[in-house]
Amino acid sequence: MSQKRDFYEVLGVAKEASSDDIRKAYRQLALKHHPDRNPGNAEAEALFKEATEAFQILSDDDKRGRYDRFGHAGLEGMPDMSGGDIFSHFQDIFSEVFGGFGGGGGGRRRNGPARGQDLRLQQRLTLKDALLGCKHEVVLRTPSSCEDCGGTGAKAGTKRKQCGACNGVGQVSTSRGFVMFTQTCPECRGEGSVVKTPCPSCNGQGAVEKSRKVLVTFPAGVDSGLRLRVPGQGMPGSQGGPAGDLYVDIEVAQDERFERDGADLVTRATVSFAEAALGGSIKLDLPDDTHVTVDVPAGTQPGEVITVKNKGAPRLDGRGKGSLQVVMQIDVPRRLSSHAKDLLKQLQDELRKEPEKVKSA
Ligand SMILES: [Zn+2]
Ligand SMILES: [Zn+2]
Repeated sequence: MSQKRDFYEVLGVAKEASSDDIRKAYRQLALKHHPDRNPGNAEAEALFKEATEAFQILSDDDKRGRYDRFGHAGLEGMPDMSGGDIFSHFQDIFSEVFGGFGGGGGGRRRNGPARGQDLRLQQRLTLKDALLGCKHEVVLRTPSSCEDCGGTGAKAGTKRKQCGACNGVGQVSTSRGFVMFTQTCPECRGEGSVVKTPCPSCNGQGAVEKSRKVLVTFPAGVDSGLRLRVPGQGMPGSQGGPAGDLYVDIEVAQDERFERDGADLVTRATVSFAEAALGGSIKLDLPDDTHVTVDVPAGTQPGEVITVKNKGAPRLDGRGKGSLQVVMQIDVPRRLSSHAKDLLKQLQDELRKEPEKVKSA
């Protein structure tokens, strides 16, 4: 997205829209474009992220004010604008907008067990952690069954009552001519029962949001763009269905000295003109806190790449490590002592003679 769309335009609301209107508009867009409902659809994901970002800003009075006054530029440098974190923010918004349980609406089916939704979040790793592998504890905030009402949503001591609209069936039928239409009961949303006295702890939802810690293991050699699946750590299933999975998108932070090129590590090293001409060796510290001695051949040129096998990142398929690629730079001194100047002039004279010698030889 090179040109950011106006947030009000993204949500399809007027500039004066109330926070309620904004919430409603976002809910509709989020339901439509949610990645779980559009697996593998990159366009839907982009629209979803766009709407989520717009909602994050416009649902916050302070941020909305800044946006109204300064546009997108007014939000630059704010922590929430890192973009990549949309999914972890989304978890907060998720329960806020959808009121807790069942996720994307309609996810709670009356008939039979349903698998819980998948969750996604992003984890940033240092290059060292990515190369060595690591474990990180992530905190998930997901709805879980309310203990005070045992998940029924009815205040302790009271019970859910049979829904009068559908007589407890969860579906209502209407006939038009010869055709019978059956739809989910709008009164009880297919539950067959309704809460008369809501449980105060969960507002009658039957679920409360709880923090949950999950220890995620990142294997050695992971890189940005990789997605890790942690089975069974998504949203809980309903009616005995299995839990969804947790997906962790990996982002490896930029390192000052090393770049990744697949399993290869690329770095720069500087030697003096004399070292490059005569050859020698240099010692480099690697991001995983090990060291390597790199042989610099005599006559090394600026920009030349010296490859050290097996000193790169571990390959995820277990087939050893990539290479370390050292891009050579030659240091030309900016200041010289008069003695150094004399020596260099002598060297210059000597080097000028060189071609004649070669010719005569
Ligand atoms: Zn409750
Ligand atoms: Zn009903």
